[in-house]
Amino acid sequence: MKTYKIALIKGDGIGPEIIDEAVKVLDAVSSCFEFDFSYDEALMGGCAYDITGDPLPAETIKKALASDAVLFGAIGGEKWDDLPREKRPESGLLRFRKELGVYANLRPAVVYDELVNASSLKPEVVRGVDLMVVRELIGGIYFGEPKGRDENKGWNTMVYTRQEIERIAHNAFQIAMERSKRVCSIDKANVLDVSQLWREVVEEVAKEYPEVELSHMYVDNAAMQLIRDPKQFDVMLTGNIFGDILSDEASMLSGSIGLLPSASVGAKIGVYEPIHGSAPDIAGQGIANPIATIASASMMLRYALGEIAAADKIDDAIKRALSEGYRTKDLAQYDAKEICSTSEMGSIIANYAAKCKH
Ligand code: NAD
Repeated sequence: MKTYKIALIKGDGIGPEIIDEAVKVLDAVSSCFEFDFSYDEALMGGCAYDITGDPLPAETIKKALASDAVLFGAIGGEKWDDLPREKRPESGLLRFRKELGVYANLRPAVVYDELVNASSLKPEVVRGVDLMVVRELIGGIYFGEPKGRDENKGWNTMVYTRQEIERIAHNAFQIAMERSKRVCSIDKANVLDVSQLWREVVEEVAKEYPEVELSHMYVDNAAMQLIRDPKQFDVMLTGNIFGDILSDEASMLSGSIGLLPSASVGAKIGVYEPIHGSAPDIAGQGIANPIATIASASMMLRYALGEIAAADKIDDAIKRALSEGYRTKDLAQYDAKEICSTSEMGSIIANYAAKCKH
């Protein structure tokens, strides 16, 4: 029996509520396989600041690096908004990602059939959408030098090295191999030199994946195509700033922020987390949707632990809960048969995931 070590960072607001449900589902699905989990809780965010004076205690990095993967809830809240920048929960999270060297952000956007009416786009446009944005996370214009400002001018630099492009491109192609084998690389090669290099390097990497079909698209066109016909995309590979914008745009196709998982991966340990924040407005009420976090746990099984069959079982269990009409409050108006609490939704999905025929 294999035991995977998972660092659990619950964080603030609804973080503890949604992580508890993901753990419930992980334990349920593991009962069908030859592995289990040992969990090590670590502090980050406002709760860490309150106890230690630091939103990212050194102990947390140590625990993360000693684990097979990190499952992360959310951090932040008004209580800590007036602290100096480096003491704020969000600074802790950025530092954490940098320390772990997680250079690839994977954001799937899936539209569940049962929730096509929850999208702001027409059902016929979003039905069947299942795409993955692969965004470079620790390079590009957010980090490039020189940067600065004076009274009359501000400047940032978009830099990518061949090595940075190669490693993120490999991620995208490897993911495409597990999906429908199509990568669309998004750039602005008609204007930017850095994008010309991006395109060249992506084409070189593509030669190592002859089964994958590669296409290129300018970012302005991609923004439009995502709304016009999102089903044309499978894997969208892109740099930091373009990916930031496109992944938020893609996430809205599905209808609720409470549904969307993500993974940030690199050479060391990956961080698996919902795309939403700590939702202080609903914290402690038992109404948060745990599906984004449960789906993040499924990504952890798939990408960090290679437990594909177990990940598939969780994804199927989520779909089954939705198709049987179970809804948390955020989705109550969309074909709900029964409204459930955070913990009830977790238990329903755990129950389906624990059915051992596979
Ligand atoms: P948010 O994502 O926390 O909430 C936005 C809206 O979506 C709120 O109305 C909230 O109730 C709702 N919502 C979010 N998750 C939900 C869920 N699982 N189920 C049902 N409804 C859900 O964004 P915000 O309000 O802008 O930020 C709140 C705090 O979270 C801030 O301190 C912000 O800095 C922090 N934040 C943290 C992360 C992170 O930890 N990765 C990401 C974004 C924001």
